[in-house]
Amino acid sequence: MKQLNIVAFGAHPDDVELACGGTLAKYSKLGHNVFIVDLTAGDYGTRGSIEERLAEAACAAQQLGIKKRINLRLEDVFFEESRESLLKVVDTIRLLRPHIALIPSPVERHPDHERAFKLIKRAIFMAGLRNLREAQIPEPHRPSLTLHYIQHTYVHPEILIDITGTWVDKIASLQCYRSQFDPTYPAPETILSTKRFMEFLAARASMLGFYIGVNKAEGFVRVDNTPFYVDLPDLIKT
Ligand SMILES: [Zn+2]
Repeated sequence: MKQLNIVAFGAHPDDVELACGGTLAKYSKLGHNVFIVDLTAGDYGTRGSIEERLAEAACAAQQLGIKKRINLRLEDVFFEESRESLLKVVDTIRLLRPHIALIPSPVERHPDHERAFKLIKRAIFMAGLRNLREAQIPEPHRPSLTLHYIQHTYVHPEILIDITGTWVDKIASLQCYRSQFDPTYPAPETILSTKRFMEFLAARASMLGFYIGVNKAEGFVRVDNTPFYVDLPDLIKT
């Protein structure tokens, strides 16, 4: 089996756990190198301090079997596609050398997620440019496959991953984020901290699982629409 480097990028700590935590745990258990890169520490989140959120993120990474988690400490809410931000993401891609990149959704309720999609997509392209010498790491690299995951706003997926076996790991990773999801945490309520939100998450995973005849699934869409090769029989495998 070829060991793959899989990197999941998120705008805030907890984004990747919510959208693709089951997938990350699955491929880490299968022996691949799975990494998480958070753009920000979620500095302006309604609940929890930066220190708490970073500690929660470390706990969640452990639950998912993540090899290394990097926080780029871009400024939450204000980060832009600046030269500095792009080069930070480019260097991270050149450092981790992902075969597969999982990135935020382009159509989202939270504007940071949409901006993160654009920033990361652009940096992925730039990371492959041999003559981009402004980056600290000179060796170019571009992932073979970039998929965006699905977040709050529903986007119909193109690819579904069976996460029935790692649903418990995903939930365990989310339980690390006490400041975000625990209704008893002493802070104002947000849409994430209600019991209904966890029900929504489970319902979404069950709905996606139903399409492929499994209990729980996570969905993805290819970012690059260059045609790719598959054998017809592979398309009807169940
Ligand atoms: Zn977020």
